[in-house]
Amino acid sequence: MADVPKTDDISRLGLGAQISVLFAIGGLLVSVLLGGTTLVLTRRQLLETRGIAAAAMAVSNATRLSNQLTPESSIEDLPTIVDSLTRIGGSQRIIRVGDDWLVAPEMDRADLPSPLVARLGLRRPGQMLAMVRGEPRFVVGIPLTAFDADYYAISDLSEVERTLDDLSYVLLGTGAIAVTLAALLGSWAASRMLRPLRRVREAAEAIAGGRLDTRLGAQADPDLDRLSDSFNEMARALESRIQRDARFASDVSHELRSPLTTLMAGVGVLESRREELSPRSIIALNLLVADLERFNRLVNDLLEISGFDAGVAALDLTEVGIARFLEVTAANAGAVALRMPDDAHRVVVQADKRRLARIMSNLLDNAGRYGGGATAITLEIDDTLRISVEDDGAGIPVGERSAVFERFFRGSAGGRRTDDGGTGLGLSLVVEDLRLHDGRVWVEDRPDGRRGARFVLQLPLPEGGA
Ligand code: ADP
Repeated sequence: MADVPKTDDISRLGLGAQISVLFAIGGLLVSVLLGGTTLVLTRRQLLETRGIAAAAMAVSNATRLSNQLTPESSIEDLPTIVDSLTRIGGSQRIIRVGDDWLVAPEMDRADLPSPLVARLGLRRPGQMLAMVRGEPRFVVGIPLTAFDADYYAISDLSEVERTLDDLSYVLLGTGAIAVTLAALLGSWAASRMLRPLRRVREAAEAIAGGRLDTRLGAQADPDLDRLSDSFNEMARALESRIQRDARFASDVSHELRSPLTTLMAGVGVLESRREELSPRSIIALNLLVADLERFNRLVNDLLEISGFDAGVAALDLTEVGIARFLEVTAANAGAVALRMPDDAHRVVVQADKRRLARIMSNLLDNAGRYGGGATAITLEIDDTLRISVEDDGAGIPVGERSAVFERFFRGSAGGRRTDDGGTGLGLSLVVEDLRLHDGRVWVEDRPDGRRGARFVLQLPLPEGGA
């Protein structure tokens, strides 16, 4: 069988999960891009505004200082002059007059960025962003050209940083919300997109489960409509092929029936004259009778099987008192031991009695053929109803326990021999008959640990229990 190459090796995630993850990644990228841009632009804007204000203030203060200084002014006069200058919150000043420095209380002249000091040494004003005492600050330096003096203003930018921190928390929060929303949107979109695929899967499962007439409805999307057309086309082809095969088996079996009947009638005549036959002819007749019986069983089983395949097998339901039914079955099978709970007689199920009898006779025949005869029939009733048939033969090897239910499988107990009358179809008919009843069958070891096979039939109990 040609396998369709797998394309989903790229990822072990399902398609729906992949779409959700892609949406979430998209949301994350957009959030990072927008958030990052917003942060950078806001920072630039705030620093620019703060810088312009600080520079303007510094120029104005430097001019006022210059106006109030006289060549006789000494460093002792400076504090009074400086106090009269304008200050904005958190700004500090450092002033040099000659070799003397007037430094704000919590500052040191070494805190001044050296490139700026060097620039002022060339008597040129300057400004720069710098880390002073572990804080980001804006430092403006202005030489007082009329004197041998410099004026430095140091503005605190931690407020700007705090604003930016707050903004980044807000952006982080909205980013997380955006990613979650994108993932949710992705999973909603995925479930919408995958809905048609889910319908295809359900239809394929229904077909695999035997409902061959399952078809997909028309789709709103033209591409999907083509998919559903192709699917329906395939389902139609499959259905007609299976029905053709089933009809073929059924036709062949029907065609074989009349010559078989003639043959059996002829053999019947020979049997009625058995005493007139030579010993060699009697041996040949015995072989012929055994083969004809097997052939007859095979044709009948094939007819039944083809009925299941063509979907025409139907249940003829009646109320069956399961305890009574098993009592009769066990008695007919040669007084096989029957074990069942005391209240088993109140259990009545809706079942096809003919099919139930055929199931039991198949299992009992097999027990006789491969297990030296059934040793017990057990009925157990709890959530379901289980009937088991045990024998003390060789049992069925674990490796064959599902294969024995396949068509024409003849296990190690029956396979090689052709004289046991088996056809290899008995257990597959049991499976089909039980499937019609919504039941199932399996084989297991005997619970008492002794050798032998135990076939268990499970049937559903009617609503509300027995
Ligand atoms: P058939 O009996 O015609 O061969 P079945 O479908 O009834 O076909 O059984 C399939 C195979 O399962 C048998 O050939 C046999 O090998 C195995 N089998 C069935 N019942 C038993 C049993 N009670 N004990 C051992 N083997 C069994």
